[in-house]
Formats: sequence, C-alpha cells, structure tokens
Amino acid sequence: MKRTMFILVLVLNFLPKINAQDETKVLKAFFDEALTDQTAYENLRYLCKNYNGRITGSPQAEAAVEFTFQLMNDMNLDRVEKQPVQVPRWVRGEDETASIQSAKFGFKDVPVTALGMSIGTGKNGLSAKVIEVQNFKQLEELGKENIDGKIVFFNRAMDPTMINTFGAYGGAADQRTRGAARAGAFGAVGVLVRSLTTSQDDFPHTGVMRYNDTVQQIPAVAISTNGANLLSDWLKNDPDLNFNFRTTSYELPEVTSHNVIGEIRGSELPEEIITIGGHLDAWEPGEGAHDDGAGCMQSIEVLRLFQKLGIQPKRTIRAVVFMDEEVAQRGGKEYARQAALKKENHYFALEADRGALMPRGFGVSAPDERLEKILALKEYFEPYGITHFKKGGGGVDIGPLKQFGTPLSSFVPDMQRYFDFHHSGNDTFEQVNFREFQMGSAAIASFIYLIDKYDL
Ligand SMILES: [Zn+2]
Repeated sequence: MKRTMFILVLVLNFLPKINAQDETKVLKAFFDEALTDQTAYENLRYLCKNYNGRITGSPQAEAAVEFTFQLMNDMNLDRVEKQPVQVPRWVRGEDETASIQSAKFGFKDVPVTALGMSIGTGKNGLSAKVIEVQNFKQLEELGKENIDGKIVFFNRAMDPTMINTFGAYGGAADQRTRGAARAGAFGAVGVLVRSLTTSQDDFPHTGVMRYNDTVQQIPAVAISTNGANLLSDWLKNDPDLNFNFRTTSYELPEVTSHNVIGEIRGSELPEEIITIGGHLDAWEPGEGAHDDGAGCMQSIEVLRLFQKLGIQPKRTIRAVVFMDEEVAQRGGKEYARQAALKKENHYFALEADRGALMPRGFGVSAPDERLEKILALKEYFEPYGITHFKKGGGGVDIGPLKQFGTPLSSFVPDMQRYFDFHHSGNDTFEQVNFREFQMGSAAIASFIYLIDKYDL
C-alpha cells in the first residue's frame, strides 16, 4: 500500500501542470483553423502539379526548393534560409518497358520502373531467362550454376498479416536495396523485384538500391504486384520463358541543392530550437504527395497556425523542408552538421514522413522522464481520435540530431493504405484527403505547442 502511494505521488509530480481547460480551447482553435483554411492544401496541390518528378538533384527539385523558399518568404517569418546541400544526381531516362515472352502463353507487357541509382540496360534492352527466388538464402542455395546469365526475380511479398505495414516493408526491402548486388555476385544479368506494396495493382514502386563495389553492376527494376503474380504463374509451367526489359537510367556528377528553413523566433528561449520537417525530394513518376510533399506542407502549416492564432512560442520553431531523403540522406546530415558548427541547441525534433492519412498520434524517443511527460499529452488528443502516444520515434532526416541528445519524434498517421501510394505513380495529390491532411497539421501544431509551453 505504501509503495503504491509513493509511485502515485511520483507520477503526479512527473505530469506537467497544464491548465487543461485553457489548453483544450487552444487545441480546438488549432483544429478549427486547420479544418477551415485551404492554404496548406492548395500549396500541396501546387507543389504536386507543378513540381512532379522532383527527384534529388533534378531541375524540378530545385524549382520546388525555390517555390518553398518563396512560400515561406511570403509568410512574414523571422528567418528564412536556403541551406546548400551537395546531392547525387541520378536520371531515370526514358519510360521503362518490359514484357514476358513465353512460347507457351504468348507475349505480355508488364509495368516496371527502374530502381533508384540503378544503371540502365542500354538502348536495346535486356532479354534473358528468369529465376524466381524469395530471399538471399535461396539465392545462395541455387548458386552460380543456376543463376549465371539469368535475370533474378525477387518475389517475396510484404507480409500481409503484419498490422504495422512499415514493419512489413522493412521485412521485404532488402530485395530492392541489395538484390542487384547479391544476385550480381552469382552472375545474374539483371534483377526484377516485386513492388513493395500491400495492394494488388499495376503500379510499379521504385526506391533506392545500392551496388556493392566488388560486384559487377547489373540493371534493376521493380515490377507491379499484378505483373509479379503473372510472371510467377507462367514460370511454373514455362521455366524457359524470357523476360525483356529496357531502361535508360544513368548517373551524373553531384549538384548543389538546398534544405529550406523557415522559423518563428522564440520569445523566451530563442536559442532552443524545435525542428519540424519533411522532405521535398520525391520519386517519379508520382507527384510525391504523401511521400512527402504533405509532410513539408504540414510543417509549414504549423508555423502558419501559430501565426494565425497569435501564439508566440517560447522556443524557436523551425519548419525544415529537407532535400535528398530518398537517395543519400544528405539534407538531414548537412542540417545536423551545420547545427553542430553553429553550436545550435536542438530542444526537440519531429518528422512527418509517413504520409498524410488520418493522424493516429506520435512516436517519441526521449529520456524516460521527458518521455513520460510527453506521452501523457495523449488525453488532450483523445477527442480527435488521436491516441497513439508511444515510445519510439524519429525519422531519416532528423535522425542525425540524435548526436545532440535531442528527443526525436515521428508523426504517425494511419498506415494501412500508405504503401498503396509509396514511391509509385499512384502517389498523387488526389490521394490526399483535405480533412485527414489538416487533422495532421493541427495535431502536429498542438503537440509542439504543448511541448514548448510546458517545457516537456
Ligand atoms: Zn519519404
């Protein structure tokens, strides 16, 4: 009994002293404003429709940088900056084509997309027999005698029974990122990877891959899930069929691009910085709406919401639109490098890079005492159906801030449909719902507001 009492008192001391009634009103004001103002949504539309194909290092990406810079410049912020970042430049080339060529079943065109950083097949394309595998272990068991001269077809699906679709993605992504390097070591001439998506459709999903310095580079493409199923079916009865694909991708020297930073200077603790960010670069042929134009525009919207409500934060709040999350993660690294050089104090960082579906909550990585206080904010969000306040957060772009001991947080929207869009031609503005998107903006603004005001 005594022990219980002691723990109870301790927990009460941990909890922030919040004037619940006042803060309930402030949060409602954030949501009211977000759900009745079209600015951020229209900015997302403009970004998606005018700057699609904004892969790292591309002219479209740099034009999107300029657009975002102007956007924040026009907001009457305390500081707006374009921070130079050196980035890789990979060019997709002409539209990819592919077909299955079977003496038994006939010819069938299938949708493919070159994997990011892959070499191309050359103008004439590549045609070879196919060997299907599920994983690297199987590749090793088959060995060079079965693989040499063939196209390796990695066909392991994302595990549909996993409720955490990011976990399912992580469980299948090695085929895409390292498949070419692993198959190349056994003499494969090309790699075909089942698209990393939980849906059955005709969109191939791209994403970055990496070669191994010691292995011959071979071209790699993703095939749509429908295409993968068809190929697998045909292979069962016609193992000698040919697969033909043509890609003309290539790499150019690195170029200078930029992170775009806008901030509201803190009134009491301006040297303490809260960073909120997403990434501006996106894979073609989609518009990078969910991944991650939405996260960028939500981050900027947080600043607008503070301004509109007339809330002066104690700390400096920054919206950071990172460059090059998808290929080499240079934006996040450069941001942290500059922070170290300038001896900046990063109090808290949040990344919005899981799409703009209905917000579920936040994941947070922080020392226990701070974590407990932050997770206790859950009750303020329950009226909005936002209840996921859990340990474990971060993101690729804010990850390098960990070296400063900064607590890192991920904005967590619903994840069941995210991989319908991710890295594909299906990731368009039309797939972003206004209310879900703005519920996200309001949730992030509310979360940051409470963390700043109550020193969490
Ligand atoms: Zn992303």
